[in-house]
Amino acid sequence: MKYLDEFRHPGATESLLESIRRRVTKRWTIMEVCGGQTHGLLRYGIDEALADAVELIHGPGCPVCVTGAEVIDRAIELASIPNVLVTTFGDMLRVPGSRESLASARAAGALVRMVYSPLDAVALAEKHPELEVVFFAVGFETTAPATALAVLQAKRRGIENFSLLVAHVRVQPAMEAILCAPENRVQAFLAAGHVCTVVGCESYEDLCRRYEVPIVVTGFEPTDLATGIAACVEQLETSRHEVENRYDRVVQAEGNLRARQFVEDVFEACDRTWRGLGAMPLGGLRLRESWRDYDAERRFTAGALPQVVSSCRCRSGEVLSGRIKPPECAAFGGECRPEHPLGAPMVSGEGACAAYFQYHRPELRCEPRAVEGNA
Ligand code: SF4
Repeated sequence: MKYLDEFRHPGATESLLESIRRRVTKRWTIMEVCGGQTHGLLRYGIDEALADAVELIHGPGCPVCVTGAEVIDRAIELASIPNVLVTTFGDMLRVPGSRESLASARAAGALVRMVYSPLDAVALAEKHPELEVVFFAVGFETTAPATALAVLQAKRRGIENFSLLVAHVRVQPAMEAILCAPENRVQAFLAAGHVCTVVGCESYEDLCRRYEVPIVVTGFEPTDLATGIAACVEQLETSRHEVENRYDRVVQAEGNLRARQFVEDVFEACDRTWRGLGAMPLGGLRLRESWRDYDAERRFTAGALPQVVSSCRCRSGEVLSGRIKPPECAAFGGECRPEHPLGAPMVSGEGACAAYFQYHRPELRCEPRAVEGNA
């Protein structure tokens, strides 16, 4: 933790925040793309500390939140087939599909198990040849390499009772959709550090140039976040738009070439419907034709995903595109709480609604959320 402590130093963060407050000539609007950044900004009170200088709006970077209800329905359908075990990350279990969640389906007898990694799912398949093990693969470019590695490993080891329900998503098409929207207010992005670890910051150059928008790659600790915001503000104040890497202890310009190669070998970009945000051209990944034997949908089911009419009460689409903040949703904190969520952003560990519920409720404000020195 010693290495992390310097990025959580209260004095350093406060001094950065003060320099931002002094530098701004107008109130800028900056979107943090990643749900992990949203949690960091709220947890350390950076959003409120900069309220007069910068409006921070929250982006679509929570993969659990954007996974479509219809894909969850499909995962439940698979788990209901005899001898098919569906595995996935813990956050996905409680996210509602159109009728129920994987957790409630498990309670009713479906075979569902939480895993920490797709490689755990491969190990389960090897250990249980009597089962067909499906890994429900969600996540951005950050988790796609591990999924690709799992299927490569399954093939190498001759494990045939393993397959994937792929729901991976790509973050740049979502950023582009936000910039293209008529109601767009984003003037600069804090790009997600974890995604950039894989894809590299160079991959943002084209988006930055075409939309003339500053993109600053940043991490998740309070000084990382304050440094990223300061870099955005400096570009905006000087009418520049560049890709800046303010997370260079982790992110390289070209990213992780080996991880990118795994993804390239196994997946290709495809159109995908994002929960709350609708159709996203090239917003997803699917298995390449040469790997389709590992496609669980092809192996076990036929037909297109069912159409799902989303609940009119959950405003997750507006939350995920930064058009409203979670407390503006009438259900927030009342009808919708972590113990009975109406939508994915209240379930996920990276969800914006969960972040506001945890850190931003008025009744919690008796404790000042000034930048703390500890996690
Ligand atoms: S508070 Fe609940 S109902 Fe409202 S947008 Fe968030 S998840 Fe949906």
